[in-house]
Amino acid sequence: MVLLRRADGDRLKRVLLLATTTGYQIRAFGEAAAKLGIRLIFASDRCDQIEDPWWDQAIPVRFHDEERSVNAVIDAGGPPPDGIVAVGDRPVVLGARLAQRYGLPWHSPEAAAVSRHKMLTRQALQRAGLPTPVFESVAIDADPRALAGRLSFPLVVKPQALSGSRGVMRVNDEAEFVVAFERLAALLHSPDVRKEQDSAHERALIESFIPGREYAVEGVMTNGALRVLAIFDKPDPLDGPFFEETIYLTPSSAPADDQRRIESAVERAACAIGLSHGPIHAECRLDGKTAYVLEVAARPIGGLCSRVLRFCDPADLDGDPVSLEELLLRHALGRDVAQLLRESAASGVMMIPIPKRGVFRRVEGVPEAACVPGVEEVRITAKPDASLIPLPEGKSYLGFIFARGATAGIVETALREAHGRLRFVIDREVAVVT
Ligand code: ADP
Repeated sequence: MVLLRRADGDRLKRVLLLATTTGYQIRAFGEAAAKLGIRLIFASDRCDQIEDPWWDQAIPVRFHDEERSVNAVIDAGGPPPDGIVAVGDRPVVLGARLAQRYGLPWHSPEAAAVSRHKMLTRQALQRAGLPTPVFESVAIDADPRALAGRLSFPLVVKPQALSGSRGVMRVNDEAEFVVAFERLAALLHSPDVRKEQDSAHERALIESFIPGREYAVEGVMTNGALRVLAIFDKPDPLDGPFFEETIYLTPSSAPADDQRRIESAVERAACAIGLSHGPIHAECRLDGKTAYVLEVAARPIGGLCSRVLRFCDPADLDGDPVSLEELLLRHALGRDVAQLLRESAASGVMMIPIPKRGVFRRVEGVPEAACVPGVEEVRITAKPDASLIPLPEGKSYLGFIFARGATAGIVETALREAHGRLRFVIDREVAVVT
């Protein structure tokens, strides 16, 4: 059933924003909405809510219970929204179902579900004849010793539906496979993952390791056509055993031919998954001349990282730069965003990795790091006294460093220099014996 839309064109436009917790990207959407003079309505998972200043106004939903959540949003009343944005991996299917109910153009619920599920993504790419690793899905309770003998190495063991490289491990032989599989099983059995109530966590994906350089692609799809907003180089080698993202740089320094290969591979992969309208964020590996798309998420780049992108509106050259959030709100409202071009400066972000497990106390050297020419911001997001858990079990960064400059090389040097000036004070965790 499609709910009838109101025809009162002059009223304040409303965009429904479905988000997991992290406050900063929600705030960026809030700022963009204020600039555009539109109203945001929030829906968020009560379980994920920690300290969100917008929380009082949010419609509580459960991302794992889509049927009830769709009804909760509709029952919350008010006129149907004029657009939908989903931020984070977990709300994308709910967002797609709501868009369908409201008759708004968006990725279909089926495509959103495939994009969230690494095995379904592999199958969709394979059916479309696109390059994909050799893959197999196995029950997480399977005996890895019984599996190990028939596998070819190196390979990657990973969850089917977590994000941020959580649980993703490269293994080079049978012994490493057994250890990694058991480690992944423990992660998928942990309360933190179980609370998602996602049946995808009952199985693991095993796939061949694809060598090569890795790129991320940020884009927006309009009626099935992809517009690439940025290709990001990931200059640090991602060869395992874990796959921590560190630096993203744009514009890409890859040769023009390779950039075309990456763009076209991502568009074909997005179409094979069925994604058609709304933001996408893809990861792609270039092995020689073959572009392997590892995933296409039906959402924008996560959290604070979106600040790495800024756009210029040729119709408003004196105005403030346009943020990714503003671009996405305009797109959600059906406005043409084709004229918005990424700024001419090179830009980059370092997601500050967690150097070791322990209790975070503080970071020293932030003012010195912030003074590095080109560095625009050093933002520590870890909270003092928080437990730090590195990959593959962890799911957060210590913070972010942002830099801009004339070339991607200058930006990369600035990010590394700033990171080198930071000193992390992390205490050992003390086991409490009762
Ligand atoms: P997530 O959604 O958690 O980011 P991905 O499947 O995208 O999980 O994997 C995270 C990272 O692990 C990738 O960006 C890549 O660096 C690495 N990776 C994953 N699968 C493979 C593979 N088959 N071959 C090589 N590297 C891989």
